[in-house]
Amino acid sequence: MSLYTSTRKKLENLTATQAILQGLSDEGGLFVPTEIPAVDFSLEEMLGWNYKELAYRVIKLFFEDIAAQDLRHCIENAYDEKFDDKEITPLVTTESANFLELFHGPTIAFKDMALSILPYFMLTSKKYNKESKDIVILTATSGDTGKAALEGFADVEGTKIIVFFPEDGVSEVQKRQMVTQEGKNTLVVGVKGNFDDCQTGVKEIFADRAFEQEIAGKNYKLSSANSINIGRLVPQVVYYFAAYTKLIRENKIKVGEPMNVVVPTGNFGNILAAYYAKHMGLPINKFICASNTNKVLFDFFDKGTYDRNRDFHLTISPSMDILISSNLERLLYHISGEDTHLVANMMEQLKKEGKYTVTKEMKDQLSDFYGGYADDETTKAYIKKIYEEEGYLMDTHTAVAYAVYDKYMQETNDTVPSVIISTASPYKFTSSVMTALDDKYQAIDDFTLLDEMHTLIKGAMPKAMDQIAHKEIKHKTVCEINEMKHIVSSFLV
Ligand SMILES: *Cc1c(COP(=O)(O)O)cnc(C)c1O
Repeated sequence: MSLYTSTRKKLENLTATQAILQGLSDEGGLFVPTEIPAVDFSLEEMLGWNYKELAYRVIKLFFEDIAAQDLRHCIENAYDEKFDDKEITPLVTTESANFLELFHGPTIAFKDMALSILPYFMLTSKKYNKESKDIVILTATSGDTGKAALEGFADVEGTKIIVFFPEDGVSEVQKRQMVTQEGKNTLVVGVKGNFDDCQTGVKEIFADRAFEQEIAGKNYKLSSANSINIGRLVPQVVYYFAAYTKLIRENKIKVGEPMNVVVPTGNFGNILAAYYAKHMGLPINKFICASNTNKVLFDFFDKGTYDRNRDFHLTISPSMDILISSNLERLLYHISGEDTHLVANMMEQLKKEGKYTVTKEMKDQLSDFYGGYADDETTKAYIKKIYEEEGYLMDTHTAVAYAVYDKYMQETNDTVPSVIISTASPYKFTSSVMTALDDKYQAIDDFTLLDEMHTLIKGAMPKAMDQIAHKEIKHKTVCEINEMKHIVSSFLV
């Protein structure tokens, strides 16, 4: 049976559904599998499977306490027509690269891969552990996660979802996506403050024991949908297997040969899923970790020191503007030989001094990782170049990955084929992408630019963007920072 423990403390092992329900361990550690399961199928065998079958065969190895028919039910509900491509994660091949597009879900960014299935894992976990209270998902968002969580949890029975966003801190399109959210169990609130204020407000609510009691009396229990939940990480392992089967079908590799993956990285969840896939038996050669100007991870792979004491930069790839990559803690656990004491110490140093250094033995185990970064100018230049030369329009996050991929190829001349993980549709970052192509778009508003972009790209406008300018606004609440708790309380009747 695959069981779960904490990165910071050896625990009585938890089942997968207990770990999903709890989210974070009591002493602040993240849940990790006591052993990364090996695949129980051959690489040839999986070539015949569609995405859902692949998801079933991979996820069941991690979440063994979920019965077969229940797991199938979760997968059926998650990867259905809300994805606008029946392959779910199509591979697009251009002259210079292979792109695995993870943006065909309801919010056109890769968070949908995990957040469309997490609600069903939560309900299953609730049932298995006889938790009778309704789950309330409370999230602060700087844009992407909030909308993906709203789409995932909207109208899911036994759950409610409340999203706080900085009233003046998200793009026009992102805001419109959230405030037009349907679903009786959803609440979206603009906060008069920045993202940190929203985040701090939410953390305070989570830490408030009296408040926990108050809502428990109304039969509610708070939970979080952010990427430290193991229920978000495991579904992401699946698409690396999907990428591999697609490379074989495209005759880029033969069964058993390795591939590289290039991942635009923020919180380190996506690339950690690739690491898990490799340790399950998928032939991955290099993990190419791409950062923007907030290049904490590049420096970490370079020097072995993680140091968050630096200026924070707002970039055109905002979902990667991050100085603390939470999921890196799971990698530390695995490369330290599961030394919870050491990991707990490093996390304590990170909290107190803003930095820590890994041991030589740990650093030696990072040789599969290659770190790189690209600034905004470079990112824009690649958007323009690849569009003009190869007719493929990348979003800003994908373009950061492409820039690092290009540098890696120039430095190494590696002949192993690479897959670039495309984390968002260009429609999601319309303004930055269009001005990368031509400065003349700078003066034009986001909604007009959507149509302009549509004239450049083949295929239908994604459902998420079609008509967005005309959708009914359902959420009009704006609050002060100190009113957040009251808002939550009044929604939970
Ligand atoms: C969240 C996000 C990322 C970063 O992914 P992590 O798993 O946090 O490393 C990259 N690109 C986009 C578009 C995202 O939304």
